[in-house]
Amino acid sequence: MKGRPPVPPALLKTPRHATVWRILPCTGPSKKSADAPSICEIRGLPEKRRRRRKSTSATDTPAVEAAGASGFASLGLSAATLEALGRAGYEQPTPIQQGLIPLAISGVDVLGQAQTGTGKTASFVIPILERLDPRQETQSPMQAICLVPTRELAVQVTGEFEKLSHGRKVSTIALYGGKPIRNQITKLKRKPEVAVGTPGRVLDHIGRGTLDLSGVRIVVLDEADRMLDIGFRPDIEKILRRCPSERQTLLLSATVPPPVERLARRYMKDPETLNFSPKDISVETIDQYYFTVDNDRKFPLLLKLMEREQPQQSIIFCRTKRRTDRIARQLGEHVKNVSGMHGDLAQNVRDRVMTRFREGKIAVLVATDVVGRGIDVSGISHIINFDIPEFCDDYVHRVGRTGRMGREGVAYTLVTPEEGPELTRIEMRINRLLERVELDGFQATSTAPKVPLVAPGADAAKADDAKADGESAGEAEAVKKRPPPPGRRVRRHRRAL
Ligand code: AMP
Repeated sequence: MKGRPPVPPALLKTPRHATVWRILPCTGPSKKSADAPSICEIRGLPEKRRRRRKSTSATDTPAVEAAGASGFASLGLSAATLEALGRAGYEQPTPIQQGLIPLAISGVDVLGQAQTGTGKTASFVIPILERLDPRQETQSPMQAICLVPTRELAVQVTGEFEKLSHGRKVSTIALYGGKPIRNQITKLKRKPEVAVGTPGRVLDHIGRGTLDLSGVRIVVLDEADRMLDIGFRPDIEKILRRCPSERQTLLLSATVPPPVERLARRYMKDPETLNFSPKDISVETIDQYYFTVDNDRKFPLLLKLMEREQPQQSIIFCRTKRRTDRIARQLGEHVKNVSGMHGDLAQNVRDRVMTRFREGKIAVLVATDVVGRGIDVSGISHIINFDIPEFCDDYVHRVGRTGRMGREGVAYTLVTPEEGPELTRIEMRINRLLERVELDGFQATSTAPKVPLVAPGADAAKADDAKADGESAGEAEAVKKRPPPPGRRVRRHRRAL
């Protein structure tokens, strides 16, 4: 591939032996490793679990015993939590839960690295519920706050709190933008013990005086690598300054690059580090391929690929919001049940799209990286990176949306001939070579050599948007070449997705 530096020899052997602990369905052989229990023994597909629980109730064993007898009880959890875990069908703790829950209950700070889909959320939800003080009757009853990067994740994490606090007098509030703030203010007056929020909305409440964090004893930063990048960091710092310094801080992330670890330690006291991410960080049940394709051949290739693959459910990732809208619109003319998703859509639209996607009513979601993080939808069979991601870690997060619950997944990345270096960076990050594939009879690249105008990436996507929006080729190229206005720093700002 043109412009692509040679791959270091170390990459040539893929460490397929590395086991990634995933939540597996009960059907088919277990992918269990020697030291990790298979989730097959822990959690089945819904109908299978129901069957098993039915037989459990036939022997009159209460849910609390189901959870207790098989693992969670050994973590010293309360009867209320064991009961809620039993109801949720969580019978055995996952490795991250086994490692993190006792540490977090002991009150120390923890930096935990684990993939999503491994029970990461419950690993911080359970200790928070265990550590809540029912007698905290101060002016500021808010005892824990979890900061997450996206609204969708706020909804998901709040759901986990609600599920696992079943039967207790604990209330959790979700604080995120795009929803009327007045409703949240009314709920805050009822003094919930836990808040799950996105940094912007949390700050908004602090500014209005409707959120008092002075009684907070536990702070969680979920998806910490994203939370500590340049876009969010100032907001996070402002929020942390509002929390007591004598607090417990838990940081969780699928990827913890060294700069993030250094930063994270600034906000924590002697943290314990837990790493459950194997070196081969991209999931082993996911087949990963790439196409070399010219920018203007990407859409026809996408159509052909969709026709060939007939995905059960898929996410097509684009780099810009305009491109997301355009591809969703164009694809919708050929394929059924397509929807777009990005950060500029009204919150009620985003919520509706995510609900319909979870229910399987939307088959194809064309999205920016706003859905690349943490979203847990088990039916996604295909990830298509219509645009190669700008950051290697985003590749890991995008691809991690498939292959969930131990299912097979496949990821295709469309790479233009100029994007070789970016592909190589991804391969180095995941320590695995992607296999190049072609579609029979489809000409993906022109044979004439192309002269790259500028480094590809977000700019190329923007230029392509400009072209599609009716600008002349010259104008579109000008977008590619346009330097940033004088005095304005080009910030690697990933907030607006
Ligand atoms: P997460 O990694 O937090 O996104 O969790 C992935 C999925 O696993 C979610 O649907 C959880 O409800 C589920 N889950 C978490 N912990 C367990 C457990 N111990 N047993 C069974 N399912 C679990």
